[in-house]
Amino acid sequence: MTSLTASHSADLVAALLFILSLAGLSQHRTSRAGVVYGIAGMACALVATVVVAAQSITAGAVTLIVLAMALGAAIGLWRARRVEMTQMPELIAVLHSFVGLAAVLVGWNSYLEVEAHGTAQTRVGAGLLGIHHAEVFIGVFIGAVTFTGSIVAFLKLSARIKSRPLTLPGKNALNLGALGAFVALTVWFTVRPDLPLMIAVTALALTLGWHLVASIGGGDMPVVVSMLNSYSGWAAAAAGFLLDNNLLIVTGALVGSSGAYLSYIMCKAMNRSFISVIAGGFGIEAPTGGGEEQGEHREVRPAEAAEMLARARSVIITPGYGMAVAQAQHPVAELTRHLRERGVEVRFGVHPVAGRLPGHMNVLLAEAKVPYDIVLEMDEINDDFAGTSVVLVIGANDTVNPAATDDPSSPIAGMPVLRVWEAEQVIVFKRSMASGYAGVQNPLFFRENSSMLFGDAKRSVEEILRALGTDGGHGAAPAARQATTAGR
Ligand code: NDP
Repeated sequence: MTSLTASHSADLVAALLFILSLAGLSQHRTSRAGVVYGIAGMACALVATVVVAAQSITAGAVTLIVLAMALGAAIGLWRARRVEMTQMPELIAVLHSFVGLAAVLVGWNSYLEVEAHGTAQTRVGAGLLGIHHAEVFIGVFIGAVTFTGSIVAFLKLSARIKSRPLTLPGKNALNLGALGAFVALTVWFTVRPDLPLMIAVTALALTLGWHLVASIGGGDMPVVVSMLNSYSGWAAAAAGFLLDNNLLIVTGALVGSSGAYLSYIMCKAMNRSFISVIAGGFGIEAPTGGGEEQGEHREVRPAEAAEMLARARSVIITPGYGMAVAQAQHPVAELTRHLRERGVEVRFGVHPVAGRLPGHMNVLLAEAKVPYDIVLEMDEINDDFAGTSVVLVIGANDTVNPAATDDPSSPIAGMPVLRVWEAEQVIVFKRSMASGYAGVQNPLFFRENSSMLFGDAKRSVEEILRALGTDGGHGAAPAARQATTAGR
């Protein structure tokens, strides 16, 4: 009794720590504290679970649990140390697939346990058998959808398969049919819990998860990642009901609801219908073409870019995925510092889905110690491009694509973008004329006020810094220096 009370208290403390963690993670300033709360909550939950389990299982079984935890922790630490920031979304997708698989296994285990022992030796009372069957079925369904959906998301994010949406004929009818079949099978299973029905729902959900995510195209992948996060939370909550574990139910519900809310916010930021995205691209047409060039582009060299910057009154930097690939955040921060010392107003405009995971750019800029107060969100800065001398587009593409606002037939039509083209001059840092993540060509590159600065973004920014004379002896570009005084 005492140990049960202690375990309930530990559950409560862990749940509160998880809530504090979510609150902390919602802001950059408090995010470190949020991580610490999360770790503390998880440690509390694990210790309490093992201590309670130790009272009803053998010492050998406890040893096995501890060994499994140590092995899991070692693998987790090893992966976390090695993973590149750019690979983070695909790692998250793989981790979601584990949660889904765990929920499927818990569901199957619970089904087989009750089938083998009846209700006598399990926690399930005879009167609750129907509810238990429904729990098993729903848990297996959510878990299996999460499992294959996450694997497809991983394959797409890591470019192991094409990110274009799969458009099977009647794909919406297929998804709706699968949902209808699931409801019918659930009712059937609560009446007659036969093994073939368990196999059928597992196969159905595995196929549905694969099809749902395969039907979603590149531009909507950020929403898919957070949607799978939400599904994995609900899968954990379902497993919590089966294991009679209150903390797992609470934690699963926290992850499920916060993931769903994040998906909703991202859909709003991308002007996508939340329902259509979570329903596997319901009503979204497959992008057609869009990768071909649309005119002549102009090129600049780093020294010319330095001259433009030296003359500028105000500069906005819009970073994107390419800044992460090039790891250009440190020279970009150095350039910011240097320009501000020269009296140039420098700010950053961060698109909500720039990079490959929510907050990707903010993390990199914070790592490079760019002051928070000059890093603005899209809505805060979008009206200011018109009065800006120079915009530096550092490895961004889809998030600065005017086709989203100008071309209703574009696959990214309607997605709010940073209106960089309204500035006097735009310099685009990238390595080629290749399209961005959504596979759509960018008319920005062919605008009269745009210039392309080809090359690795880190190297290009470093060369600009040298041209501005910041390397303490490798020769400042005199033209750039003179322009500073003459141009203002
Ligand atoms: P994009 O993915 O549209 O474009 C990135 C650009 O960076 C490419 O055009 C590439 O051009 C350039 N680049 C790559 N490496 C380098 C390098 N070393 N130096 C210089 N440039 C480089 O980036 P955005 O950030 O604008 O858009 C993000 C896209 O990713 C959106 O479509 C979004 O929907 C999607 N997405 C976002 C997620 C999120 O949560 N934030 C998650 C998953 C997808 P080149 O090859 O010519 O150098």
